[in-house]
Amino acid sequence: MYRHLVDELSCRHTLCDADMRKLISNTDDCDVSYLMEKAREAAGKVYGKDIYIRGLIEISNYCRNNCYYCGIRRGNDRAERYRLTMAEIRECIDYGYQLGFRTFVLQGGEDAALTDDFLTEIIGAVKTQYDDCAITLSIGERTYDSYVRLYDAGADRYLLRHETADSGHYGKLHPADMSYENRIKCLMQLKEIGYQTGCGMMIGSPYQTVDNIIKDIRLIERLKPHMVGLGPFIPHKDTQFADYAEGSAALTLKIMSVIRIMQPDVLLPSTTALETIVGDAHKTGILAGCNVIMPNLSPEHAKEKYMLYNNKAVSGSEDASGLSVLRANMESIGYNIVTGRGDCKRPGVKGMLQDV
Ligand code: SAH
Repeated sequence: MYRHLVDELSCRHTLCDADMRKLISNTDDCDVSYLMEKAREAAGKVYGKDIYIRGLIEISNYCRNNCYYCGIRRGNDRAERYRLTMAEIRECIDYGYQLGFRTFVLQGGEDAALTDDFLTEIIGAVKTQYDDCAITLSIGERTYDSYVRLYDAGADRYLLRHETADSGHYGKLHPADMSYENRIKCLMQLKEIGYQTGCGMMIGSPYQTVDNIIKDIRLIERLKPHMVGLGPFIPHKDTQFADYAEGSAALTLKIMSVIRIMQPDVLLPSTTALETIVGDAHKTGILAGCNVIMPNLSPEHAKEKYMLYNNKAVSGSEDASGLSVLRANMESIGYNIVTGRGDCKRPGVKGMLQDV
């Protein structure tokens, strides 16, 4: 019934709000599979059948913020806190390199111990030892000067989900000491400095409406990020949103496909949150147009404590050591995991191997 909207989206890479609303609210199976087919086609034109992998290292679960949805927020007294030492982070990277990872994502709460000095030292050491690797940071809001220092030290990419592009909705998910304006300011700064920059949002977060999602899509159109991180909201038992329903996997997949078609060269991970509620070793995400998977390289003790939401998937294809299983799963649907930095293929992106 809405195939024509999928075709229009494929041709024009955008739709008006009314049509976008129809498309993302539509649940007709045939239309949804057509949307996903077009998303795969769009990804295929840019990335072929290549799937990029990133080793995720959860470096600290201390956080100064109190985001209402997040299990590691400051106010959660029941979270057992940890932070990895420099040596532990280096060990994870050494192990990941042997497995074939060439991008490492350092993610954590906004921990005051993650100083510029600490981070520049580790980034510098890793980039010197492994000059064929990329480093992605995902450590929240920092000052412009800090972002510049980390970039100059060799960080290549930065993931900072905007969480929602509606400032009223942002205020319902975050306490008053955080603001949508600052989030966006940080994203603009990251992009201007030269990072391959990622934004993104949860699907089905409390109070989210379809119109909020359309605003997210418009923000992505304007910002043109190199990456978009999307996952369903999943409640965490020790947050005020403990009793909210988790986000819909079907809606998450539809939005992934829409974003792939709108921006064919974007890096789009099939996320752990999606894997947590779908559990199909990322095949569904890839079949909806994703081209990145981020298995977990954190030490065992950290994985359990870095609980952003209930029952986070940590084993099987989520675990970096299960790479052969993931490889086989991808091959079973005609895709290949590649060893390489896996940069965004948008023309003009700094840090692309072909530009070096
Ligand atoms: N402190 C960093 C990293 C945050 S954790 C930062 O601010 O960017 C990475 C992402 O996990 C968040 O951006 C958020 O979108 C997601 N997340 C947090 N709690 C979640 C939950 N309950 N369900 C699903 N995703 C969640």
